[in-house]
Amino acid sequence: MEGKINLEREKARLMQEKLQIEQELEKLRENLKSEFELDINGLSPDLYERDKIVALIESLEFRRTSIERALKAIEKGTYGICERCGSEIDPARLEARPDATLCLKCQEEVERLLKRRRTEREPL
Ligand SMILES: [Zn+2]
Repeated sequence: MEGKINLEREKARLMQEKLQIEQELEKLRENLKSEFELDINGLSPDLYERDKIVALIESLEFRRTSIERALKAIEKGTYGICERCGSEIDPARLEARPDATLCLKCQEEVERLLKRRRTEREPL
C-alpha cells in the first residue's frame, strides 16, 4: 500500500533520536552543574548562558516526552492516528516529524488555542 508507515523503521528512528536527546541532556546538565559551581565558589556565573542551557534542557525534555508518546503509540498500535480527532496523520508529516501525535489540522488548532491563551494572560 502506498504511503504505508513502516513501524519498525519509525520505531528505530525514534529510539535513535531519543538516545541522542538523552546524551545531549546529560551534557547540558553537566554544563549547568559547572555554572552552579562557579556560583558556589563565589565566582560570577554567566547568567545568560545558564538561562540558555535551562531553556535548551526544557525543550529537549519536551521533545523526549513526545517521542516517548509516539513510541507508546507504536506499541498500542495507534501510531499515525491523530490523538485528537482520530484521523490518519499524513505519512509525509510523520516522515518529517516521526513523533507527531496530532494531524496537521489539529496541530494548527492546538497551537492557535495555546497562542490565544498566552495572549489572554498578558497583563492589561
Ligand atoms: Zn486531528
